[in-house]
Amino acid sequence: MRDPDNRIGIAILGATGSIGCNTLDVLTRHRQQYEIIALTANDNIQRMTEICRTHRPKVAVMANVDAAKKLATNLADTDIEVISGAESLQHVACREDVDYVMAAIVGAAGLLSTLAAARAGKRILLANKEALVMSGDILMRTIQENGAELLPIDSEHNAIFQSLPDNFRDGLSQAGVKRIYLTASGGALRTMPIEQLDSVTPEQAIAHPNWDMGRKISVDSATMMNKGLEVIEAHWLFGASACDIQVVIHPESVVHSMVAYSDGSVLAQLGNPDMRTPITHSLAWPDRYESGVEPLNILETARLNFEAPDMRRFPCLELAYEALRQGGTSPATLNAANEVAVEAFLDNRLKFTRISGLIEQVLETAEHHPADTLETILAADRQARAAAETLLSSGVA
Ligand code: NAD
Ligand code: MG
Repeated sequence: MRDPDNRIGIAILGATGSIGCNTLDVLTRHRQQYEIIALTANDNIQRMTEICRTHRPKVAVMANVDAAKKLATNLADTDIEVISGAESLQHVACREDVDYVMAAIVGAAGLLSTLAAARAGKRILLANKEALVMSGDILMRTIQENGAELLPIDSEHNAIFQSLPDNFRDGLSQAGVKRIYLTASGGALRTMPIEQLDSVTPEQAIAHPNWDMGRKISVDSATMMNKGLEVIEAHWLFGASACDIQVVIHPESVVHSMVAYSDGSVLAQLGNPDMRTPITHSLAWPDRYESGVEPLNILETARLNFEAPDMRRFPCLELAYEALRQGGTSPATLNAANEVAVEAFLDNRLKFTRISGLIEQVLETAEHHPADTLETILAADRQARAAAETLLSSGVA
């Protein structure tokens, strides 16, 4: 049943995370337009209790079953339905009263719910880039076949989307696009001497200079695997080949990406580094409204720097380009090996400088298949995780 006020129903998958929090902040400013139908999380009971009490969704999902029991006890005096398990994430993404799905679960754990939202024809606000990296072909096809919409939350892709012409889906060169410049801050360790990277701690790697993000994406930013995943993401979103996408280090994070046209024009989207801008853009599109983000003070940020990435410092970026060129299940293998490597680094089981080596070893030994079924992709994901764990426990990594 649609809300009597005809508000847009929204489900936030990954509501306790950094993107989830920013989304709730934006929605608070536009209560009259949106109804929060569902909030989901993995196991953060305390934060989930707080946001459920504040935002009163119809349903709250905890992927973790024990955490759901505790949440249900905490919310016993409310009429919020609490459900649990990974399948429930898919269930809420397809609900009839949900129009928009914010896909903000981190990692491969977000894949099936994002696909479910696509099958149900929803507007998907996609933060979960790993879903697109793993299953770009299937996800894009599912979106098209079911009349779903895909709006990019990743700040760079949102900037590119804003800078592209309306007819970009006819083909980039047809639309007069020459090249995409994907900007990157260079992460927390951009200026650290390479010989010191060996002893980097998790705390150092996640201390991002410009963005306040979850731990996994912060490590990915420090290795620049995040940019590598974003190159693959841009490939699927915009139909760009690997050689159409140039990564540019831009330490100020003010220019969020650029599109170069055949007539010599280069269009860019600028703004303060605050995820509420792309979130609001995707919620409101094609309209515009307030996000709570301070206007950019162009005089204060007068100096903007750009440089090419040093591939010796950022081998993960090269690995991602290679996986994109190989295609098939290689991006899913890359993504899974990276998730295991980052987790191991955060647990102090793997040195920062061995993250890329572990991923490379997994890629070298992995079977390579066309990524045309979900089963093949999920099998590649499982095999890569198992291979990475074996390398970790045997000390080879
Ligand atoms: P985060 O770690 O802050 O939050 C992750 C969310 O996912 C949490 O709500 C957590 O409960 C949920 N989650 C984790 N594992 C789960 C599981 N197994 N099952 C169900 N839910 C699970 O992460 P984040 O920084 O908000 O990033 C979310 C996604 O958005 C990532 O894919 C990231 O790459 C992308 N993204 C984030 C930013 C940012 O500024 N944070 C920017 C661009 C893209
Ligand atoms: Mg990004």
